[in-house]
Amino acid sequence: MAFDYDSENIFAKILRGEIPNDTVLETEHSLAFRDIRPQAPVHVLVIPKGAYISYDHFAQEASEAEIVDYVRAIGEVCRMEGVEGDGFRMISNAGEHGVQEVPHLHVHILGGRPLGRMLQQA
Ligand code: 5GP
Repeated sequence: MAFDYDSENIFAKILRGEIPNDTVLETEHSLAFRDIRPQAPVHVLVIPKGAYISYDHFAQEASEAEIVDYVRAIGEVCRMEGVEGDGFRMISNAGEHGVQEVPHLHVHILGGRPLGRMLQQA
């Protein structure tokens, strides 16, 4: 499958500094910032700086340096936000069935309260 990245998506604009964000952590290859519509007391989005649409795209085409940086950044955000003790949820929506709103890879880190079961019945 070819990956056709839309460079006008909202996270690409955040990465270019065209839209402000509430940054939690910035590393060489990753950026973490607060979700504009938080669904839990902690709701942080972690994105790679590279132009990747989804986890699958990232896993196939990112360099090892980008992958290591991204995985470590996610862990660091969990520690910084203090959710590693009581627990948290990571979600990465992809594509139509995943109901992905923004076509730039992002992991949601949710925590700060009991989150309930993972999926509701449709
Ligand atoms: P998705 O449904 O693609 O997994 O999640 C996209 C997330 O991006 C949503 O939770 C939404 O609230 C968040 N979001 C959309 N636009 C913006 C924005 O301009 N700034 C921030 N910080 N979050 C955004």
